[in-house]
Amino acid sequence: MLQIKNLSKCFEDLEVLRDVNMTVSKGEVVVIIGPSGSGKSTFLRCINLLEKPTGGEILYLGDNIVHLGKKVTDYRKQVGMVFQRFHLFPLMSTLENVMYAPMKLNKLPQKEAREEALKLLEKVGLSHKADSYPSSLSGGQQQRVAIARALAMKPEILLFDEPTSALDPELVGDVLEVMKQLAGEGMTMIVVTHEMGFAKDVADRVIFMDGGYIVEEGPPDEIFTQPKNERTKAFLSRVL
Ligand code: ADP
Ligand code: MG
Repeated sequence: MLQIKNLSKCFEDLEVLRDVNMTVSKGEVVVIIGPSGSGKSTFLRCINLLEKPTGGEILYLGDNIVHLGKKVTDYRKQVGMVFQRFHLFPLMSTLENVMYAPMKLNKLPQKEAREEALKLLEKVGLSHKADSYPSSLSGGQQQRVAIARALAMKPEILLFDEPTSALDPELVGDVLEVMKQLAGEGMTMIVVTHEMGFAKDVADRVIFMDGGYIVEEGPPDEIFTQPKNERTKAFLSRVL
């Protein structure tokens, strides 16, 4: 589904991604771990074209999407993203947040957008908050609305950038539960997270990044129990 070849990204003379190669198949859940500053967010942002890669290719269903021009909006409908800090529209209700993009970008009639949004809010356990505003929700609830909003575009791939890192510990579980459910339904997901339990349970593959490189990757039971690289070992000994 997604094939990344020799991806690099520089900010002026700072090299943040170096020769990153990755393939993601349909229905796969890939979890990316690694220390702060290792390039994880930049990598996701390149995949979603929020950042323009300096070099390399990103093939989506076989087409290189690095130089899409105007079609970037169409591409982003298929590759949704959930951020660490929810970024909900503060002046819209929960329901309106979820309805907005399908109406605006897909010209979906209001009635259908509303029905669809209500279903999605139910899916994330928040139908009772449809008319509430983001500021009255907990962080965990806001993040679940953000997930519903991303799902409203019916994406083929969802990217998550540390979706639970801004949450109080007791709110993390509900968000992870929703993500687990999506994974179980076959959603293709790339998840940057420090939740090693989630990685062990849900990931088909774990990628360890450090210094802008993919240092090591493999199935979770391999990476977590017998990492080969010294840097992976050192990182895991700090977080496990
Ligand atoms: P991670 O998500 O793994 O913590 P990031 O991708 O956020 O890492 O950052 C990797 C490196 O790139 C860091 O050194 C960071 O300061 C730098 N960086 C990220 N975004 C920008 C930017 N827009 N301009 C300049 N440097 C950036
Ligand atoms: Mg980051």
